[in-house]
Amino acid sequence: MFKDKEKFKKRFNERFVSMHGKALSEATENDVYQTLAYMVREYVTSDWMHTKETYIHKKSKQVYYFSLEFLLGRFLYNNLLSLDVLEEVREGLEELGYDLADLTEEEPEPGLGNGGLGRLAACFLDSLAALGLPGHGNGIRYQYGLFKQKIIDGYQVELPDNWLKNGNMWEIRRPDKAVDIPFGGHVWLEEVDGGYRVHHEPAEIVRAVPYDMPIVGYQNGVVNNLRLWSAESPYDDDELLHQHSGNYKDLLAHKQSIQTISEFLYPDDTTYEGKVLRLKQQYFFVAAGLRSILLSHKKRNASFKQLGNQIAIHINDTHPVVAIPELMRILIDEEGYEWEEAWRITKSVMSFTNHTLLAEALERWPVDLFRNLLPRIYQIVEEINRRFCQDVLDNYPHLASHMQEIAIIADERINMANLAVVGTHSTNGVAQIHTEILKQREMRLFYEMFPLRFNNKTNGITHRRWFLLSNPQLANRVTEAIGDSWINHPSDLQKLTKWSEDRQLQQDIKQIKLENKQELARLIEAETGITVDPYSIFDVQVKRLHAYKRQLLNALHIHSLYYRLKEDKSFKMTPRTFIFGAKAAPGYHYAKEVIRYINALAKLINSDPEVSPYMKVVFLENYRVSLAEKIFPASDVSEQISTASYEASGTGNMKFMMNGALTIGTLDGANIEIRDEVEDANIFIFGLTPQEVMNYKKYGGYNAYDQYSSQPELRRIVDSLVDGSLFPVGEFQAIYDSLITYNDEYLILKDFQSYQQAQERIDRTYQNPEKWYQMVIVNIGKSGVFSSDRTIKEYANAIWNIKPVQV
Ligand SMILES: *Cc1c(COP(=O)(O)O)cnc(C)c1O
Repeated sequence: MFKDKEKFKKRFNERFVSMHGKALSEATENDVYQTLAYMVREYVTSDWMHTKETYIHKKSKQVYYFSLEFLLGRFLYNNLLSLDVLEEVREGLEELGYDLADLTEEEPEPGLGNGGLGRLAACFLDSLAALGLPGHGNGIRYQYGLFKQKIIDGYQVELPDNWLKNGNMWEIRRPDKAVDIPFGGHVWLEEVDGGYRVHHEPAEIVRAVPYDMPIVGYQNGVVNNLRLWSAESPYDDDELLHQHSGNYKDLLAHKQSIQTISEFLYPDDTTYEGKVLRLKQQYFFVAAGLRSILLSHKKRNASFKQLGNQIAIHINDTHPVVAIPELMRILIDEEGYEWEEAWRITKSVMSFTNHTLLAEALERWPVDLFRNLLPRIYQIVEEINRRFCQDVLDNYPHLASHMQEIAIIADERINMANLAVVGTHSTNGVAQIHTEILKQREMRLFYEMFPLRFNNKTNGITHRRWFLLSNPQLANRVTEAIGDSWINHPSDLQKLTKWSEDRQLQQDIKQIKLENKQELARLIEAETGITVDPYSIFDVQVKRLHAYKRQLLNALHIHSLYYRLKEDKSFKMTPRTFIFGAKAAPGYHYAKEVIRYINALAKLINSDPEVSPYMKVVFLENYRVSLAEKIFPASDVSEQISTASYEASGTGNMKFMMNGALTIGTLDGANIEIRDEVEDANIFIFGLTPQEVMNYKKYGGYNAYDQYSSQPELRRIVDSLVDGSLFPVGEFQAIYDSLITYNDEYLILKDFQSYQQAQERIDRTYQNPEKWYQMVIVNIGKSGVFSSDRTIKEYANAIWNIKPVQV
């Protein structure tokens, strides 16, 4: 249908009329988008069904990726590319008088995640389908995605992201596959011939209704499934009215309270807000996912004995860890397995990824809260804990004195990370250094008990969305140089490195970068009114706002340049545009203050005629996948400046590298592996090493005040946050206090000078375009290993034991 342009135009017209009940001449852009998206979705349906049938027919082992977040981004372009009809559709639409690029902007963006963790889940789904691997997603269909950010007078303001208001063209609601999930109430055991039967009288039953979205493989006929669950009342309105004694208001309140379960995505790093609801969300999507997987398993298999050979369930961070006791419950209470057998099966099915070392992100549920909401699951967790502690006493007596630390239940809390390691056959970190720190520090005692369970899987990104799709000019030029084998084998990008000295290639990449920067400059002008120079260095830091990511270090450096330009007439710098994008969790006051500080610097600098010819500062609001797709291709410098040992991996660093930006970074997360690939000559490394940072944290000895008082330039900058010389008196007191009063937890002052020197190296290198673009080419050439295809192959082979299927 799409390959034949005339046929496509005719079908498009018919579809439009039947969907919208009016003539195409009366169409809005949104009407046209909806029609096109609907046609694409319709077009994938047969491959979608066929893929499912093939997996069943071939009895393929399938993996289910359980994640509370999927930061998907838009689908239209991606699906047109995967179906290999992008050019045909572009031309067909043009003849109908529409611009495809404009239409894609009409697609509401499923922002069902906070940042890297959710984006990783989305990249993994893309790679699974592209590699023909039977792998699906399981999550929540939040009615509201991550908040929409506006910047008003320098402040972050949050607005709800009502992404479903015009409908979602990519999903299919499947009420026939709904399952009911019980919460609360009480549990009792009935003795029946020597054994027990478990009864659970729940206080509330919630119906989980699945919405399926197709995940289209890259030009291979494979379409996997992303199943997202929505919470509804299980009763029809007549029943409900009866239950509420005819009180219509109570009925509505009841419905409303159930729907809140799938209403909002929680920003991950706010504190205790909505704790019960959050646990409810976790059990809701986990229990629904397991029920639907096991129902289809039971249709074809008599027993669960070999479940681990037929399905794998992956637990993305601690949020879905209740899957472990829930599977135990099903095997024991519903299927009648003995504990030991159920435990063997459960561990063979489940695997776990740890994503962070930050204490604030490690989930520990208060026992009362957990027991009240999930009474039967709590009993099972208790028994898992009892047996685990016994195992420690029997087999690892030297660890007995550390029981508080390794027990699953301790201090009236359930430690979900401990449960995850104990109840799975694999625990992995997301970059080499992160996995090493897990083994040597956070989970040292577990590593001693289960050394074979721990492994590393360095994160990756899909080079299809983040390069082929978002930077087509550069992708074409790369193909011209080395052929197109890199599209299916991203490690072939390596071939580019032997052209790194080629003047023509350097020139062409420089030109493409310039055009991408011109396009971003237009967007910046349209969104902020700020005019930026595309010939300046585009220096970019885009990621969630968090103290450990140290946007503040970047801001303090900008502040230092401001003073130098104002006061040192001999000071010269290559013009730079500093670009930021970052959302702060709504309850995270410090992060919001840093946003305000960056915006205050922007106002000061951009309006100063002495300074603004050399530098501009831009804060782009509402950082999200679709904006990211426009930023990476236009970046020269990638800011990856977290305090060493705090960033588990980072994936933004990989997107920049692939798009030909050079990294200024600490030896942290995957920066280390990027450095290993490109070598020191092709990256700007600065700052404390992870070991030095960890020594400070362990033994103390860091004094921020010494840093401040011994560096006059730095002292002046820090003072000006509060002394009234640049901003009103006390304006950035919270930031000042974080640095001085609270001893600079993230060692910003300590790394300042080394960062400044690395920035000076960048300035000098950029003056020599041949050198700069030689480095750029090496970076692009070495980026193939950071494709999520490589990561997913490692998971498939070493953790899930799944094989590609010919569809
Ligand atoms: C890649 C990505 C991230 C992760 O960025 P890091 O720099 O690794 O923290 C966050 N948000 C969006 C929208 C992304 O595309």
